[in-house]
Amino acid sequence: MNSTDWEIHSLERAVVRLQHQEPVINEPHDVPTVEAMLGVATNDRKFKRERRQALEDIEAILYRKKAGRVGEEAVEQTLSEMIFPEGTHVFRNASLLIRKGYRVEIDVLILTPSFALVLEVKNIAGTLFFNEEEGKTVRIRENGQADEFDCYVHQLDRQISGLNQFLASHQISLPIYGAVVLANQNTVVKKRPVTFPLLYRKQLARHFRSLRSDNPILSAVTVNQLSRLFGPRVEEQQEQPLCMERDLSPLMFRRGVLCLQCNQRILAYQGRGWYCRTCEIPGREAVRQAVEDRLILINLEITNKQCREFLMIGHSSQATRILKSLELNKFGEPPGTSYYKIGKGPLKWAEESRKSTSQ
Ligand SMILES: [Zn+2]
Repeated sequence: MNSTDWEIHSLERAVVRLQHQEPVINEPHDVPTVEAMLGVATNDRKFKRERRQALEDIEAILYRKKAGRVGEEAVEQTLSEMIFPEGTHVFRNASLLIRKGYRVEIDVLILTPSFALVLEVKNIAGTLFFNEEEGKTVRIRENGQADEFDCYVHQLDRQISGLNQFLASHQISLPIYGAVVLANQNTVVKKRPVTFPLLYRKQLARHFRSLRSDNPILSAVTVNQLSRLFGPRVEEQQEQPLCMERDLSPLMFRRGVLCLQCNQRILAYQGRGWYCRTCEIPGREAVRQAVEDRLILINLEITNKQCREFLMIGHSSQATRILKSLELNKFGEPPGTSYYKIGKGPLKWAEESRKSTSQ
């Protein structure tokens, strides 16, 4: 799972947990809710409004992230069908460290022995106006609503200037071209950019051929050495839970083990374990997801007590069993033991990670 997919997954989980909770019938244990313990009235109108707003905001971010991902994949498909001169390297999500504290991220960088091409990929629906002089790109939606973005041309210009500095610091001089690429063939452009070409994804191969030159400036060895310096995009910020990142109250998220199919709260039954009666499917994975949800949404650490409260289970031995079965590191002595996830990406079962490391 790459960092974009992981971000999308985290936002999807937030959307599930911010949705309205159905009451559970035949609740076996009577666990006091966090809200009750803290004396917070969750039926408070202001709280409900804030929660609805948080859900709308996160759904909007999720929509944009997913559109971006679809655009990336479409362009990747186009790139895979193109023929490049010998010695060409194609980088997606290249990250150039120009100097300490100054990093440039490039969607697609095509490095050939005779030139470099920087692509700024956009997946956007509607009608676009490139107002370079104002530093804005404006999109008009079908319903007439206008959205303003930081000028795509300026973004590209910054990347090319960064790449120039990067190459100069390695005593390399190479022509650098740039283009804004629209992943969506249906995007309408009313005002085109002046500084750089604007291409639809399907025009990319032809544009690339028009730049081709048979006079290599760099040797294959130099291109290879250079290519090793373009690292994948690094997360500069320390991972933090979504409620901190978006300044949301942890109380906004619904608790309980939620069925991965219908998103309703499920329970554990004697002799049968976790089970969704509506979908008639076992809920073992939903338990793993519930612990992961708390780690990505609320706090990077979880204690036995917090696990009980969030999963809404009654016994600490049950919470211990769950936490021990997952790939978590622990620190501190009981009852203050905290568990945290190892590495980035999805929380795994401990047995699975043992299996994969022994293979
Ligand atoms: Zn279900």
